[in-house]
Amino acid sequence: MKNIKRIMAAVLAGAMIMAFAACDTKETTDDTSSAADSAVTESAASAQESAPAETAGEIKFATDGKLTMATNASFPPYEYYENEKIVGIDAEVAELIAQKLGVELEIKDMEFGSIIGAVQTGAVDMGMAGMTITEDRLKTVDFSDSYATAVQVVIVKEDSEIATVDDLQGKKVGVQENTTGDIYASDDLGEENVKRYNKGNDAVAALVSGVVDAVIIDNEPAKSFVAANEGLKILDTSYADEQYAIATNKDNKALTEAINKALGELKADGTLDEIVAKYIPAE
Ligand code: GLN
Repeated sequence: MKNIKRIMAAVLAGAMIMAFAACDTKETTDDTSSAADSAVTESAASAQESAPAETAGEIKFATDGKLTMATNASFPPYEYYENEKIVGIDAEVAELIAQKLGVELEIKDMEFGSIIGAVQTGAVDMGMAGMTITEDRLKTVDFSDSYATAVQVVIVKEDSEIATVDDLQGKKVGVQENTTGDIYASDDLGEENVKRYNKGNDAVAALVSGVVDAVIIDNEPAKSFVAANEGLKILDTSYADEQYAIATNKDNKALTEAINKALGELKADGTLDEIVAKYIPAE
């Protein structure tokens, strides 16, 4: 039931954005309805794409000659460490965007919950972290066009009695702090049943050691974590689809436009698909 409500909320949020797009503006209101935290749906994301460009001006960079990206490098296959280097779909796409902009890419690893603030204050140019477009986040940052879709899933132990989302009532659930998984878990199960971790890895470690009964997290990292740990499995859920996009500063429309142009080229020439296929083998 709650999930149905959530999907409805997401659809409503989408309708809201479409309406705003039709009025030549990307602004969101101080809406306090239940749609506030909702992930924005695909139709909404494309409505955002087709919204008219605002006067962009010059691209401002936090550091001259660099595209500074904030991420949380514990989110395979989008961003994670390999031999002390941050790799993954986001890292590779960002590298190509920087090349197209004629600047160097610098990645700053931080807590997921610090990324939006870093973008908002201009400490970094963009946040790219498998980040879902949500109504709430749109109040403080802009988002580029979407470059991937995701859905929240539930990881449990193979022998768990938890078979559906409804079985999670009264159970302890681990999440990554400030993520959409955190928002869904807190809304559906109550704050007192949710344990928040800085890294997806830490939430999964808590599941393995029995501190929590389940982890709610995005589907692709979930697959990576299950592959890397014995005895875990993923449940299907009915959470709404989410759109990943790059967060940018509201006062740097020129950068958002340049990112969208670069993303458009990477989509059109098949490069984005190639990068995704390299990290997410077809099933
Ligand atoms: N997609 C989720 C969100 O945006 C999780 C992202 C992440 O943990 N890196 O909240």
